[in-house]
This record gives sequence, C-alpha cells and structure tokens, in this order.
Amino acid sequence: MGLMKAPENTPVWVDISRCKACDICVAMCPAGVLAMVPSDQTILGATISVQTPDFCIGCNDCELHCPDFAIFVADRKEYKFAKLTDEAKKRAEQIRENHYMALSA
Ligand code: SF4
Ligand code: SF4
Repeated sequence: MGLMKAPENTPVWVDISRCKACDICVAMCPAGVLAMVPSDQTILGATISVQTPDFCIGCNDCELHCPDFAIFVADRKEYKFAKLTDEAKKRAEQIRENHYMALSA
C-alpha cells in the first residue's frame, strides 16, 4: 500500500506526477495491465497508464519495483484480484514487443 489514499474498488493506480517513464513496471507486469502513453507533460514524452485494471492479479511487482513510488496496488483484503489468464499473458507480451507503449484498440 502506498502513501496515497486508496481509491475505492480499484486494483492499481498511479501518481503520474512522480512517473519518470522508465518502463520498469510495464516490463514487470505479467498481466499486461500497464503501458506507457504519450504525454506532453513529461520530459520523455510518455507516462504510465493503467490500461486494463480488470486483468490485475495483485502480484505487487509494479509497486515493488517502481523507483519513484509512483504506482500503488490495493490490499488483498480490500480487492478481489483477477487470475492470470493466457489472454493477459499475451497482452503483456504484445506490450513488451510494442516497446512498452499502449496497444491501439
Ligand atoms: S500488481 Fe502485478 S498484475 Fe497488477 S499491475 Fe502490478 S505488476 Fe501488473
Ligand atoms: S516504474 Fe514507476 S517511474 Fe517507471 S514507468 Fe512505472 S510508474 Fe513510471
């Protein structure tokens, strides 16, 4: 659990103002929940985005590895996370192949 107040019924959330667009969380996420999106508010021109929260399995890898404490995962007692599906794994692979950028719909 991070420092921000947990939004209700949300598995994973971000503080974009802290994100330096390092891609680490996207690389770590086994379920393809996270991806980078273009942003004109950041130096690198991209920022983190929670794309498919319903796929989050609550593994905490993103929160544990974010060097800037920009991403937070709900407590297991407060949110019922998804199970890791083949669809989610495939999505994660596609995002990695897409250089960590969000897939177009
Ligand atoms: S908790 Fe795990 S599954 Fe959920 S967004 Fe973070 S890395 Fe992905
Ligand atoms: S690990 Fe943290 S700083 Fe890096 S892209 Fe993810 S949220 Fe942003």
